[in-house]
Amino acid sequence: MAKPPRVVIIGAGVVGSALADELTERGWTDVTVVDQGRLFTPGGSSSHAPGLVFQTNPSKTMTELATYTVEKLSGLTLDGRWCFRRVGGLEVATTEARLHDLKRRYGLATSWGVEAALLDPDQCAAVHPLLDPARILGGFHVPTDGLAKAVRAVEAQARRAIGRGARFLGGHTVTGIGQSAGRVTGVETDQGFVPADIVVCAAGFWGPRIGRMAGLTVPLLPLAHQYATTGPVPALAGVNDPVLEATRPILRHQDRDLYFREHGDRLGIGSYGHRPMPVRDFLSPAEAPVMPSVLPFTADDFAPAWRDSVALLPDLAGTAVEEGMNGVFSFTTDGFPLLGEHRELAGFWVAEAVWVTHSAGVARAVARWLVDGDPGIDLHECDLHRFETVQLAPRYVEERAKQNFIEVYDVVHPLQPMDRPRPLRTSPFHPRQRELGAVFLEGAGWERPHWYASNAPAVTPPRDEWSARYWSPIAATEAAATRERVAMYDMTPLKRFEVSGPGALGFLQRLTTNNVDKSVGSVTYTLMLDSHGGIRSDLTVARLGDQTFQVGANGPLDEDWMRRHLPDSVQLRDITGGTCCIGLWGPRAREVLQPLTDADFSNAGLKYFRARRAYLGEVPVTAMRLSYVGELGWELYTSADLGLKLWDILWEAGREHGIVAAGRSAFNSLRLEKGYRAWGTDMTTENDPYEAGLAFAVRMDKGDFIGRSALEARTASPDRRLTCLTLDDPAAVVMGKEPVYADGAPAGYVTSASYGYTVGRTVAYAWLPASLSVPGTAVAVEYFGVRLPATVRAEPLFDPKMERIRS
Ligand SMILES: Cc1cc2nc3c(=O)[nH]c(=O)nc-3n(C[C@H](O)[C@H](O)[C@H](O)COP(=O)(O)OP(=O)(O)OC[C@H]3O[C@@H](n4cnc5c(N)ncnc54)[C@H](O)[C@@H]3O)c2cc1C
Repeated sequence: MAKPPRVVIIGAGVVGSALADELTERGWTDVTVVDQGRLFTPGGSSSHAPGLVFQTNPSKTMTELATYTVEKLSGLTLDGRWCFRRVGGLEVATTEARLHDLKRRYGLATSWGVEAALLDPDQCAAVHPLLDPARILGGFHVPTDGLAKAVRAVEAQARRAIGRGARFLGGHTVTGIGQSAGRVTGVETDQGFVPADIVVCAAGFWGPRIGRMAGLTVPLLPLAHQYATTGPVPALAGVNDPVLEATRPILRHQDRDLYFREHGDRLGIGSYGHRPMPVRDFLSPAEAPVMPSVLPFTADDFAPAWRDSVALLPDLAGTAVEEGMNGVFSFTTDGFPLLGEHRELAGFWVAEAVWVTHSAGVARAVARWLVDGDPGIDLHECDLHRFETVQLAPRYVEERAKQNFIEVYDVVHPLQPMDRPRPLRTSPFHPRQRELGAVFLEGAGWERPHWYASNAPAVTPPRDEWSARYWSPIAATEAAATRERVAMYDMTPLKRFEVSGPGALGFLQRLTTNNVDKSVGSVTYTLMLDSHGGIRSDLTVARLGDQTFQVGANGPLDEDWMRRHLPDSVQLRDITGGTCCIGLWGPRAREVLQPLTDADFSNAGLKYFRARRAYLGEVPVTAMRLSYVGELGWELYTSADLGLKLWDILWEAGREHGIVAAGRSAFNSLRLEKGYRAWGTDMTTENDPYEAGLAFAVRMDKGDFIGRSALEARTASPDRRLTCLTLDDPAAVVMGKEPVYADGAPAGYVTSASYGYTVGRTVAYAWLPASLSVPGTAVAVEYFGVRLPATVRAEPLFDPKMERIRS
């Protein structure tokens, strides 16, 4: 076996120590963990975290990271003392809105395979006797949640790593990152240089500082968060063994931004209800009165939290807050960790903004990523490179991280846009969209119209309050106009690149699954796979010249992947911001377009999946005959300066044909009727093209490409499939992520869903075992606790013969 690389991990917190354990377990035993503080309580967030682990999360990935943490820490002890206690987790509701949302959380837990139950107030009080059932409406209980003893978990995992050869060095402050020719060479510390082939920054909220040493922006904000401990609570006297500390479930009272755990006969109370308190300067372990991550308690900020705590748990009236702290930890702009390798400095990795809850799961994923080249779990939500450049601006990071702190326990709707900073990115059509009453939501900083108030609402089945949020019956009007006449969609936010140069063709052939070696003017739908055959992205590749391609992509992670594989003979340029795009779609699209140009846009003149350059009036466009909505039409690209002109020309020409501007709400409905998958939602690296129903985009006979050999070992008859369902009740609606039941037992989960206005019922895509993925199979989708009958359908539901799109 080749000698394993030398790894230095910066930070002996719960992440660094778990990573040392996971790496050494995989045979990478030359691991050195350096920390500025004293081992094994060096003074970071892990040295004082109360360690509540609630596993359920809207993200499947985050839930699975937590589930592994529970599993691993449950099997660990330190000198016979526990590292994890499965006391259970209970989230209670004191408002109807929260009670309702707990049903959604129950659905999420079921979708992700976490055992859970909804409890009535008496049942809540039975599992947590400090609760007064009269003061709550119900609860959500996860028996496997519990308490991680972070400090012990640090030491227990460190000892295992040390047993396999790792070194842990306390009192070593990293002052620089050694680098040569684009690779890390080690870390500079106040005690000397420690050489390394790989450096992992697991420095918690110090991450941005270490990142700067390596020329990397680590977009997180250190924020203080209040945690207090009461004096003895009479009702807890004699309840808990001092060694075991706690017996009752960890408790969340999210309506008041509070959580609770037992410390023997005292109660620990954490609050997110106070003002966000960013922390910009940290003391060294030697200077800090307690430790660098512990700031003085600001009692005034805690006063409302105490009142709310007593209101929920009346027994607290017999005690008072005895101790408190403002503890510091990391918040990111979207609530997810930051994981991955620096693109410009090979061998420099980060594992940042990780809670204790996800620590072992993250460590295992990063260890697998390092050792096997694959994290073994879809990490796109956590990837260090998921951000647009504008999302790395310090002001943006601060604003968004603070907002995430405020919202950490809020009921957040999946479509809820950020409040600030808005507007951030606007397409050139923005003024016209506003004139038409566009209702904008936000994605990747872009203002994206979801519908236009200028279009009249259609009559649609009534909706429940949740699915009616960020939705309007106008979407039905816009969908119908697209199917019956013609509509304009702003496609500007879709990421696009120009890939050019002598090596461009070979590069794209190597990176993607379909054959893009076609004539100039061809457009190809293709996939990028990872080396294990998982879907990294789906792309449209338009060959605009012999050596020039325009690539329609999903986001910054595509650019990252491409740049990591980019040969010198290829140039890659992100042209998104400098260009814009209108999707002109509908049966009358040709009647709108053709009179504007001498170029031949007839069916024979520009076939489906062909591209050409043309002038529409004065405006030079690149027209691609593609459609995500399943209708005749084109994506029309021009430079940003001419965007408004393009809009006006099309709008004017379209008036006699009843043109409308249409938004993403209609778009999403139309795409699902047509069975077009959305990467990141319907499929990820955890799925191969066969499972996802995308085998048509793979050409095994075209030569080698990344992921090809892995696909050879996969079967075209997989065990699970992305499956089309419709809800049987034409008025029923689901939103995505709901569990799917077959014969009364959970069998899978919904990825995307939308009402299909043409087919007259909700269309949902779901991952199901292949045995259930048979048209006609009866299943049920659980939405807020109600099982809605649904049926597996042959796809696509709309125009399966492609007559409209090819007309
Ligand atoms: C009050 C409070 C309550 C919390 N409650 C929970 C909870 O209930 N559940 C939960 O899951 N999470 C909770 N958290 C969050 C959790 O504690 C952290 O997210 C987690 O501990 C971070 O672990 P880490 O290993 O990444 O960072 P840390 O534990 O902060 O470790 C980073 C280490 O890097 C070292 N370091 C930094 N700079 C250098 C340098 N230049 N050279 C050498 N070493 C360096 C530091 O000394 C430190 O030891 C809480 C946090 C706080 C503050």
